[in-house]
Amino acid sequence: MSLAAKVLIADDDQALARTLMWLLTENGYHATLLPSKAELLEHLEADQYDLLLLDLGLPLADEMDLLERIKRDPKHKDLPILMVSSSPPEETTVRALGLGAADFIAKPFRVRELLARVKAHLRLGRELNQARAEARSHLEMVAILREITTSLKPDEIFTVLVRRVAQGLKISRCSILLADADAGTAVATVVAAFENPMLRNLRVELRRYPEIRRALDSGDPVLIQNIGSDPLLEDTRAEWKANGQLVPTTSALALPFRLRGNRSGVFFLRTSGDDAPLNQQDLQFADQVIKSALASIEKAYDLESAMVRQEQMRLLAETDPLTGLLNRRALSDKLQQEVERAARYGAVVTCIILDIDHFKLTNDTFGHQMGDRVLSQLGALLRREQRAVDIVARFGGEEFVVLLPETGNTGARIFADRILRRIGDHVFGDSSRPITVTVSAGLATYPDERVTDGESLLRLADGNLLKAKSDGRNRYRD
Ligand code: GH3
Ligand code: MG
Ligand code: MG
Repeated sequence: MSLAAKVLIADDDQALARTLMWLLTENGYHATLLPSKAELLEHLEADQYDLLLLDLGLPLADEMDLLERIKRDPKHKDLPILMVSSSPPEETTVRALGLGAADFIAKPFRVRELLARVKAHLRLGRELNQARAEARSHLEMVAILREITTSLKPDEIFTVLVRRVAQGLKISRCSILLADADAGTAVATVVAAFENPMLRNLRVELRRYPEIRRALDSGDPVLIQNIGSDPLLEDTRAEWKANGQLVPTTSALALPFRLRGNRSGVFFLRTSGDDAPLNQQDLQFADQVIKSALASIEKAYDLESAMVRQEQMRLLAETDPLTGLLNRRALSDKLQQEVERAARYGAVVTCIILDIDHFKLTNDTFGHQMGDRVLSQLGALLRREQRAVDIVARFGGEEFVVLLPETGNTGARIFADRILRRIGDHVFGDSSRPITVTVSAGLATYPDERVTDGESLLRLADGNLLKAKSDGRNRYRD
């Protein structure tokens, strides 16, 4: 990139224009001569200039109109304009038009004065830009990082990032997408969007976002300063047109980043309407933000997967592998908790223990493997009968326990009746070898003078189960 300041000369007086061109080039500026003022707006659109040297011709009203059009465009808000004119307009006119950054130099001008003014305006323009960039990068960065480090979840961090960057750069749309590892760059998931805070984990096809695809493919930032003319979006624009789609986006920035484990993402910034279009400084700012945030994002992911692993371990330790129900160890904790809770709140709780009748015979007839199948089918049936608050466990072998909180003897009998009927009606095994199963059950309800804790509640239920067995099976006793 050339460091020489870029000056655009727009002058209908070609002789004077060439003189200015020569003068500026001679003094180390990168000057461009515009053959006709009719193309001025187009030219400003296509390239970035540090200063516009504009010869004010006649009629003055038309020239002021042109100036106003330039200044109205937020893209050129900070472009210094130095006007050369033999009859400068009234200062009041200038003020009224809000042409704050404009300055005049009267014709015929002195070379030294002209050069001094050019220099002064360029410095002013640069300082303005630099000050803005510094304000953005330094103060914003500190605040952003402070907020990020207090967030523990990756989603929270993404949300902070899009909000902070959108607000810092005063742009209306800012989102973060993560690439799908298996889908290459065809699909990505939006994990946060400033313009739509409720939006989470939306999968988008990247076919319509060539700037994002290029950023992901190349690993380099893609800055589209003009959505309406950038060649990368040629096909996309044709598609918009064909669909009659009015796309409000004026500029876009796709900033790729990498996370551990070959995961990558894109910080996607867009302007529309009156937003000033994105430029190199915005790119640097956003890049600095995402780079500084990466460590926190990684840490949050690590923490999240550690927590998930811990939760998985806990579940595994509490689960019976054959039926997926709670195992005996987990059951004794729950029993104790439920009895204590009932004692504390003066509530009731019922424990039902179920034992399959003549299960040995089932095993002997159909084989142990089919026996296992029956156990898992019975587990599934009990789970279907379970209400949201009930606890179902495999106590061991072919014995199951259902805990019914807030349920007294009457409710428990209704439940036991229903369960016994459902089991008796159900066809176990498989279609080639249907198996009928009955169970016997023992019920015990707290409070009861014989029950002091979870263990004694279970013992009481077990005693009733024995009664059900000796009374002929396929029944309950309480
Ligand atoms: P009843 O309860 O009606 O008195 O008769 P039963 O045949 O069910 O009685 P018992 O408690 O003596 O036998 C339980 C049988 O359950 C013994 C064992 O083969 C079987 N069993 C226990 N655990 C499993 C298991 O995980 N898989 C299979 N397939 N069978 C099991
Ligand atoms: Mg048994
Ligand atoms: Mg049995």
